Order: sequence, then structure tokens, then C-alpha cells
Amino acid sequence: MFKSYRKKSPWILHYNAGSCNGCDIEILACLGPKYDIERFGILNSGNPKQSDILLVTGPVTYRSRERLVELYAQMAEPKVVVAVGACTCTGGVFRGMCNVEGGVDRYLPVDVYVPGCAASPEQIIDGVIQGLAALEAKTKAIEEPKRLFGGLHETLFFTSRRHMRQRLPHAED
Ligand code: SF4
Repeated sequence: MFKSYRKKSPWILHYNAGSCNGCDIEILACLGPKYDIERFGILNSGNPKQSDILLVTGPVTYRSRERLVELYAQMAEPKVVVAVGACTCTGGVFRGMCNVEGGVDRYLPVDVYVPGCAASPEQIIDGVIQGLAALEAKTKAIEEPKRLFGGLHETLFFTSRRHMRQRLPHAED
């Protein structure tokens, strides 16, 4: 049941990495009553530790990149990155400027690219839905080895613990 909730109700974290605010306004429109992304169970959490999807806007300036990477590192696996807008995908109109390197994928693994200047609310919602598919694939990739080898791992762990307990008295002697 938890997996079903997670699949259908991802929490998002929005980070502005130096955008002109055009794409951010469109993200806010998604959260507003007209597009109402929350009706799908998608919540803008603002907390990296509770978020499944990171929505990034802007070309990633030198000032913002460290915080961006820190936020990404705080998110629990599995996690998905959605690059919103031309700037985030490639640098857009800011590409080649002295304070940006152009595109978020220089710093983070991007799962979904949403083009457009600015990206429209429909495109952003579509990007989040594509992000859900990526999230599901990553969840499976994490859980499958556990399902296959979980029992084997526990056997090896307890065997090695028993072995250590047997060996310890000899070590102390
Ligand atoms: S893609 Fe366009 S609207 Fe979005 S942040 Fe860049 S310049 Fe602004």
C-alpha cells in the first residue's frame, strides 16, 4: 500500500538555480487553483528529506550550484530530477555567461527534461508524470536485489556474526 501511495502521491522540491523567475511562476501556476497539481496527490513539500522529485529551474549559477547539490544529497533514494525550462536543460539564454556553466546535468543526473521558455504548466505537469515512471523504475531497481538476495544477505550476516563470536574467545586468549 505504501508503494502505491508513493507512486501516486510524490512530494516535490522546487529549487531556483538562478532562473529569471519565468519558469518558477509557471510552477506556481501548477500549484494554484487553475491547474491544481495537488489533485493528483502531488505536494510541494519544501523539505528535501521528504521529497521524491526535485524540480530545478534556471541555468545553475556558480552561487546556487553548491546548495543545489546539497539539497539533492539530502533527498532519500529513489529520487528523480526534472529540469524545467530551456535554461535548466542547456543554459538557454544564459549559456556562455561568465557565472553559469549551462545546464543542470553538469551537476546532477537528470531524469526528465522539460523544454520551453518558459515551460508551460501543462509541460511541467507532464514532466512530473514522466518523473513518476522514472521513480517507479528506480524503486524496482533498488528493491529487486533485496527481494532476490535479502535472505542470502541475512544468512551471510548472521553466519559471520556467529563465526566472530566463536573466534573472539580465541582472540582474547
Ligand atoms: S527558460 Fe526562459 S523563462 Fe525559464 S528561467 Fe530560462 S529565461 Fe526564464
